[in-house]
Amino acid sequence: MEKFEKFDFQRIPVPLLSWYQKSKRSLPWRENPTPYRVWVSEIMLQQTRVEAVKEYFLRFMNVLPGVEALAVCEEEKLLKLWEGLGYYSRVRNMQKAAKVLVGVYGGEFPRDIEALKDLPGIGSYTAGAIASIAFGLPVAAVDGNVFRVAARLEENPTRISDPKYRKYLEETLSAVYPKDGENCSAFTQSLFELGALVCKPQNPDCAVCPLKGLCRAYAHGTQSLFPVMPEKKAKRQEKVYVFLIETPQGFCIRRREEGVLRGLNEFPSAVIEEGISPENVLNEWGVYEFTEISRRKYVHIFTHIRWDITCIWIRTDSAPFDAYALDEIEESISLPTAFKQCLGILKEV
Ligand code: SF4
Repeated sequence: MEKFEKFDFQRIPVPLLSWYQKSKRSLPWRENPTPYRVWVSEIMLQQTRVEAVKEYFLRFMNVLPGVEALAVCEEEKLLKLWEGLGYYSRVRNMQKAAKVLVGVYGGEFPRDIEALKDLPGIGSYTAGAIASIAFGLPVAAVDGNVFRVAARLEENPTRISDPKYRKYLEETLSAVYPKDGENCSAFTQSLFELGALVCKPQNPDCAVCPLKGLCRAYAHGTQSLFPVMPEKKAKRQEKVYVFLIETPQGFCIRRREEGVLRGLNEFPSAVIEEGISPENVLNEWGVYEFTEISRRKYVHIFTHIRWDITCIWIRTDSAPFDAYALDEIEESISLPTAFKQCLGILKEV
């Protein structure tokens, strides 16, 4: 941790809770915040905007209303429910955790932070959110919003990627939690809400902030310097062919066996190596006779990789992989966005 003058976080719950009661948004997961609903919403909200999550959350709850249903859900159905949210390991881990909850805890969530953190896919942030929001325990949940608010309040110069900073903030905030369960739940959500609505990454709305009288970054005009973000690493670039192979039975789909998105469905693809043509790849799959209908290029960005994709639509009589009707693909087969956007090419011709 970098050196800085400690801030008295004890002063923030009262003004923040008062502001939250007046300003909080009505969100589906805030109604009846059971541990299951809090958990599902928090996992969905990692990497995805609130507005986009609302619909996914309601659909997920409708189909899988509790841990028992999640634990036994068929994989393809589960992936389809998650389609578009990305980072599919999250939902796979949720199902693993649901199986543990059913098998070990009788379908209930443990009211213990360490036991929550032992569940697959649940780190200190998600455990803190479940413990405080659903159980009313005085445990902080430190996400990007909370880092931003806290770093600006005390002008903390430590990079948020420093694990010691996270630990420090979890301990410091947990120590100032209100003593009653209801306000514990509200305090966690008030920090999220302030970061989302007021203390935004760019152009924070300090004039309406309930903490502006305490905030060092506001006093010094240094809001844009905090939080100190991790150093950016360059993304690896890969060139990829994605084939829409149309056959009399439909379009070919297979499971990815390696690389990013391993274990998920794809339109057959191949990383483009020096001197390898689309024909070479198709021949390797046993496709020799085909007609190319069209091709187009697009880019898909993952966390650490950039794919420069050439999508090629061909027609052939022999299906090298399982083939499905377009309706079936759109309605019941899960496809990561990197491949799904390929379907746009069908509408251009
Ligand atoms: S005063 Fe501004 S920078 Fe400080 S916490 Fe509020 S919104 Fe964030």
